Amino acid sequence: MLRAEPRTGRRVAAIDGLRCLSGEAGECQLCYLRCPLRDGAMVLDGGRPTIVASACDGCGVCVAACRTVNDLGAIQLVLEPVTI
Ligand code: SF4
Ligand code: SF4
Repeated sequence: MLRAEPRTGRRVAAIDGLRCLSGEAGECQLCYLRCPLRDGAMVLDGGRPTIVASACDGCGVCVAACRTVNDLGAIQLVLEPVTI
């Protein structure tokens, strides 16, 4: 039986580490620098931008920023299921 995908919930950013151009040396930090909630929703782990989903408001600024430097687009907004 097919399970329906959740249709409600918060949209938060998620980084695909395999597509991201950054590493421990912080080769790219554009999404981090553009995030309106920098050092809250987006932090640096070593030099690499990392999303704190609980603080992300899903504005999508980082998604657009990433697209300007990475044709693959390493960030997506994903639905975070609501847990009750
Ligand atoms: S979606 Fe917005 S708040 Fe969340 S990490 Fe990206 S830029 Fe920051
Ligand atoms: S802008 Fe994209 S490629 Fe650059 S650090 Fe962020 S997720 Fe990685």
